[in-house]
Order: sequence, then C-alpha cells, then structure tokens
Amino acid sequence: MLVRQAYRYRLYPTGEQRHQLAVQFGHARHTYNWALARRQAHYQETGEILSFYDLKRAVTALKSEPDHLWLKEADSQVLQAKVEDLEKAYKGFFEHRTGFPCFKTKKDRQSIRYPQRYRFKDNRIYLPKVGWVRAIFHREMVGTPKNVTVSKTATGAYYASVQCERELAIAVHTGPAVGVDVGLKDLAVLSTGEKIPHPRYLRKAEKRLARLQRSYSRKVKGSKNREKARLLVAHQHEHVANCRRDTLHKLSDRLTRDFGVIRMENLNICGMLKNHALAKGIADSGWGMLVSFCRYKAQWRGGVVEQIGRFYPSTKMCHVCAYKNDVLTLKDREWTCPQCGTVHDRDVNAARVILAAPTVALGNRPAVSRPAAPSRSRKLPPERRNVTPVERPLDAKAVGRSAGLDEAGSPALCKAG
Ligand SMILES: [Zn+2]
Repeated sequence: MLVRQAYRYRLYPTGEQRHQLAVQFGHARHTYNWALARRQAHYQETGEILSFYDLKRAVTALKSEPDHLWLKEADSQVLQAKVEDLEKAYKGFFEHRTGFPCFKTKKDRQSIRYPQRYRFKDNRIYLPKVGWVRAIFHREMVGTPKNVTVSKTATGAYYASVQCERELAIAVHTGPAVGVDVGLKDLAVLSTGEKIPHPRYLRKAEKRLARLQRSYSRKVKGSKNREKARLLVAHQHEHVANCRRDTLHKLSDRLTRDFGVIRMENLNICGMLKNHALAKGIADSGWGMLVSFCRYKAQWRGGVVEQIGRFYPSTKMCHVCAYKNDVLTLKDREWTCPQCGTVHDRDVNAARVILAAPTVALGNRPAVSRPAAPSRSRKLPPERRNVTPVERPLDAKAVGRSAGLDEAGSPALCKAG
C-alpha cells in the first residue's frame, strides 16, 4: 500500500530569511483571501461557481496587474497551493464537515506549502525565494518527499513538515483484540485490566497559565511588554499541547503494536464538550486525536480500529451476563452484578463490554465530528443555498443533541469522575 507520512523538523531561519518567509506568508494569505472574495463575488454576480482551474488562472493573471506586481516576490507555486487549499476548504464545507471558508488574518497560524523545488542537504533545507534554511533533521525521512509545508507557530517557532510517500508492505496483524474505554479519571482503561492514568496536562498548567494571562491582559495594548507577555502565554499553551500529543502518540503506538483489533466507543465529542462541567477535562484528554492516531497506525501495521455504536450502554452492562444495571450512578466505581454476582470495576467492565459489543459501520463520516464555529455556521452563505445536502447517516441528528442524553444512558455522564 502506498502511504504518506509527514516528518516535522524545526527550522532556524536567519533574520533575513525570517523576513523572506514573512513575505511568502503574507502574499500567500493575500492570495487566499483574494481568491475567496473573487469566488464569492463571482457567485453573487452570475450564480455560478468559479471553477478551480479558472481561479488558478485568475491568480496567475493577477500577478501581472499593475497594483499586484508585488505578488511576484512570492514563489508562484506557493500561491497556487493556496488556491488548492481554498478548494479543499470549500469541499469540506459542501460535505458538511467544516464551516464556510473564512478570511485569514496574520494572527492565525501561518503556513505555506511548496509542492516542488525544495532540496535537502546535511542540516539545511532549500526553500525557493528564501534560500538554504538551517534545520534539525532529528529523524530520518523514509520515502519520496512530495511537498514541504513551512509553518510558524504563535511562539514564533518555524517548522518544516515534509510529506513523504512510500510503498508499505502490510501483513495482517495477528495480535489479540482489545477493548478501550476512554475516560476522565483514567485516560484509557483496557479490557486486559490495565489502566493508563490521565496526565491532566492542562489541569497542571492552569495556575501558571492563569497568572500569565492576567499579566498579559494588564499590559497596554500595542506595547512591547504586551508582546512579551503574549509570547509567554503562547509558550505555555504550546507546551501543554506538545505534552499531550507526545502521550497520545506513545499510547497509540503501543496499542497498535500490541493489538491487532482495537475497539473503542464512537464518542460524540462535540456534544460532550457542550457540558461545561466536563468540557475542560475532555478537551484536555484529546480523545479524538487518540482515535485518529490509532487509526492510521493500525492501518500501517495491518491492524484495525473498530468503533461500537454511540449509544451502546457500555458502562451499565455486565460483560459476563449482559445484565443492564440502570441504577448505576457516577459515584459507583465498583458494582456487583445482581444477576450473576460478578464484582465489576466500572471502567474495566466497560472496556470488556466494548470488546464484545457489535460494531457499527463507520461510513464516510469521520469518527469525530468537528465543531463548526457557531458564528460561521449560523448565517447560511449564498453558495450553500443551492446545494443539495449530501446524504447523512441516520445518527446525524444525534450529533446535535447535547451530551447525548438517551435512554441507553448518557455517554457524557458515564465518563465523569
Ligand atoms: Zn452479570
């Protein structure tokens, strides 16, 4: 199977190179916004959608217009890649995965993609119009590089993400199956009885974060001290995110290595985040990230990730005799099955029920529904009005329901504690 894997390397551009990169970021962003405005205007005037290729040609023509000659400072392919990004953004919108594409500002994360003409040498990477930039290649790239995305984070760190393609011989993973119950007390509980504690990175960093944020908001707007304070806040956020990603990579790596079949719940994360009492803990867990990491890693190793129905009563059911305990409350960490007399650890039992539960077809919809920004989804943009909505699976209505309070027991509440 042909697989694509990205390798992310830290870049250390010089002052001059940082300036050049800023030019590329800025021009690329301008092109994206221009193309978005152009497409919207075209639709309003003619009622037709400006095609991807017409838009690409329009961008090429734009560079020759007297008031846009400065666009030539940017690499032409970087600008064209932004038109492709816009196309992807529209595609996501029409397929009801994302909100309507919005205009980018320089406060957003900055990134540009080079589809060609980059080169690698020792500890340098060549970027057109920028030059040879110092990089730390901390791990070897495997496969043929397909494109390079350069990004700048809120803390001012630069990264190059090199997407490589390679042929991977996949043998079926013959390892055992495991049920995984994700939660707030323990990050994951396996049907083998193993509990992986929740690292609670955000909870731990909260005090410092609150102090830094207070200090930031006290600084005069536009002042140098405010910028310094902003950097400190951003660093703290980045640190938390890095720790979380690291934990999830290690866990997903181990699960996909040890087990051939990984069974998880199909959580309504979007809906659960609406429960303010739990939102912070859920967001700090990164369950969605865990599922997506497990999925691609399992695929590469010949394993499979299966998901069980969203409203399957995993917590309340006895894994031995399938008795459904409706009186189980959040506080009950342990319970005895009245029918067969087995003493259950709440989470281990849930993981074992998940292991034995029937799976649902995954369909085309991503396992984790992405939250669309409310401000964007509220007003229906003109282009959506004439589009027939794509067919959606039956449980689509459940996504809108808050925290999934159904007769089978609320998954949100089952997870607490
Ligand atoms: Zn029982």
